[in-house]
Amino acid sequence: MSDLASRVEASIRDVPDFPKEGILFKDITPVLQHGQLFQEVTQFFAARCRDRGITKVVGIESRGFIFGAALAHELGVGLTLIRKPGKLPWDRVGVEYELEYGKDRVEMHVDGVSADDRVVLIDDLLATGGTAAASIDLIERVGGKVDEAVFLIELDFLEGRARLGDVDVYSLVHF
Ligand code: AMP
Repeated sequence: MSDLASRVEASIRDVPDFPKEGILFKDITPVLQHGQLFQEVTQFFAARCRDRGITKVVGIESRGFIFGAALAHELGVGLTLIRKPGKLPWDRVGVEYELEYGKDRVEMHVDGVSADDRVVLIDDLLATGGTAAASIDLIERVGGKVDEAVFLIELDFLEGRARLGDVDVYSLVHF
């Protein structure tokens, strides 16, 4: 594991039974509060994106907005938001996906991504992959192509990356 990954891993706080019993919540707020670590993570992701010629960052609500905004700013490229239903004001596309119990939905503005963009999708954590898979679907529906999906944390035992088809997946820290 890289030195950066081990420092990020050490700063992630495990919160048992949040938001409900049986979930071990991976709290990334200590990473945000540590200015130098947050900056190093952003610069590390940015270096990878520069190598891949990324032209657009797409962040997933809500912690993906934080890492996504920092990354887009560092790269000097645009940021598009994938949001929960009813939050986006303009013409949008939406995709429903299955949760353990029930369904959820994500939405994006129709002009959020264009066909010539090289997109990086970003969120704090990849769990079952349902949210990221629906997000990739949204981007593809408007003619975009996801070059890579990037996460701070991946819960390997949930095998979320298997749901992301042929999109490259990179996670800094694995549990
Ligand atoms: P999933 O669709 O199952 O991959 O869930 C991913 C989304 O749920 C991400 O936006 C995460 O922020 C959040 N999430 C799922 N499981 C956890 C966890 N154990 N700790 C923190 N966030 C989680």
